[in-house]
Amino acid sequence: MVEGKQLNKSFGNLHVLKECNLTVEKSEVVVLIGASGSGKSTLLRCLNFLEMINSGAIYIDGKQVDPQKDNLNHIRENVGMVFQHFNLFPHMSVIENIIEAPVHVKKIKREQALAYANELLSKVGLSDKANVFPHQLSGGQKQRVAIARALAMRPSLMLFDEPTSALDPELVGEVLGVMKELAKEGMTMIVVTHEMGFAREVADRVIVMHDGQIIEEGAPKQLFENPQHERTRRFLSQIL
Ligand code: ADP
Ligand code: MG
Repeated sequence: MVEGKQLNKSFGNLHVLKECNLTVEKSEVVVLIGASGSGKSTLLRCLNFLEMINSGAIYIDGKQVDPQKDNLNHIRENVGMVFQHFNLFPHMSVIENIIEAPVHVKKIKREQALAYANELLSKVGLSDKANVFPHQLSGGQKQRVAIARALAMRPSLMLFDEPTSALDPELVGEVLGVMKELAKEGMTMIVVTHEMGFAREVADRVIVMHDGQIIEEGAPKQLFENPQHERTRRFLSQIL
């Protein structure tokens, strides 16, 4: 589904991604963990071409992406992204937020986009919130709208960057619940999160980053119970 080979990314003199290799299979759920500043967000953003790698290769659906030639907007449409801070359009109602990109980027008919948006709202448990504005929602509800908005483009890969980090603890579960459902339905997902319960229950694989490198990966049970790398042990002891 998606593969990164020997990815390097620098910001000026700061070498942030160092020879990162990763492969995610169709319908696989990969949880990415690692200390703050280790490069997790940068890796996601490179996979989505929100940032350009300095060297290496990215393959999506088996085909190498050539940023010079390929239509990156097309690729971004196919890769949904959910951020820590929802990034909803504040001046638009929930339903308008969800149909914005399908209508204006994908040129889907408004009625058709509305029908699918309502379906998605029901999926994330917010059918009754179609016409309210983001400021009228709780953080957990905002994030569920953000997920529905990403799904509205019918992506084949979803990237989540700490989707529950900004939420009050009692709101985390409702967002993780939606993500768990998505995983069950076979969505391919890469999730940066510190929610190790979610990782244990939902992830097929956990990948550990440290200082711009992937230092360890494995099935959650194996990785949590028997971490091989000293840095992984240290990181887990801090968050568990
Ligand atoms: P993480 O998500 O694991 O916390 P990031 O990928 O956000 O890590 O950041 C990795 C490093 O890259 C950090 O040192 C951060 O300050 C730096 N960095 C991230 N984005 C930028 C940017 N746009 N410009 C300069 N430095 C950046
Ligand atoms: Mg980050």
